[in-house]
Amino acid sequence: MVILMLGAQGTGKGTVAGLLSEKLGWPQISTGDIFRKNMKEETPLGVEANKYMSKGELVPDEITVPMVANRLNEEDAQAGAILDGFPRNLAQAEKLDEILQEKGKKVDLVINLTSPKNEIITRILNRRVCSNQACKTTYNLTMHPPKKEGICDKCGAELVQRGDDSDEAAIQNRLNIYDEKTLPLVEFYSQKGVLRTEEISEKTGRLGKDVAEDILKEIKGDIKIG
Ligand code: ADP
Ligand code: ZN
Repeated sequence: MVILMLGAQGTGKGTVAGLLSEKLGWPQISTGDIFRKNMKEETPLGVEANKYMSKGELVPDEITVPMVANRLNEEDAQAGAILDGFPRNLAQAEKLDEILQEKGKKVDLVINLTSPKNEIITRILNRRVCSNQACKTTYNLTMHPPKKEGICDKCGAELVQRGDDSDEAAIQNRLNIYDEKTLPLVEFYSQKGVLRTEEISEKTGRLGKDVAEDILKEIKGDIKIG
């Protein structure tokens, strides 16, 4: 089963994807995480991606699409996968259909997260991630803080802020790009009948973990796990 996450930055895509991945035992394939790992290791892919990421721009499809196709070929992604951060434009979505079709698969469920704009910016500025590459758990200083300040609950590593999360101009740029390039995917997947939209808001109290719980109940009832 292929699940994909849609939604602007700071709506909690990573949180929902992480919970689904943990409970379903399928990998969370985050293109942003793969790029950041490569940046840290200073691979040629990382150096190239960094030119775009530091400005909040999309990394070109010629780089991103083959990277995802390779990841989807790996053994651990055969039973199911949760795509987080891909596709980000129509061309990527169409390419993804082709990649999956060749494997006799399709996008089964698209979880589209929305959130009030004022909450989004605060949430991005308050976002902290675990510096341990094998863990990468995301926290939020106000909504979902770690038990001990600056330390990951799960593995004890230091929490850090992503470079592009501390720069308000880069954040605004990412939100504009989302509206322009990624929002059309809502219509694309809605027409395919696989879209599920969920609003995450501190005001209504419906958070990522509530959405993940509801979806898990439905999926586990629907398909056999393992
Ligand atoms: P956010 O959701 O906060 O933007 P991500 O980790 O998803 O964080 O992405 C960080 C950056 O990585 C993006 O701003 C973009 O530069 C790059 N990126 C991630 N996914 C893609 C993609 N599918 N296509 C192009 N660039 C991407
Ligand atoms: Zn950790």
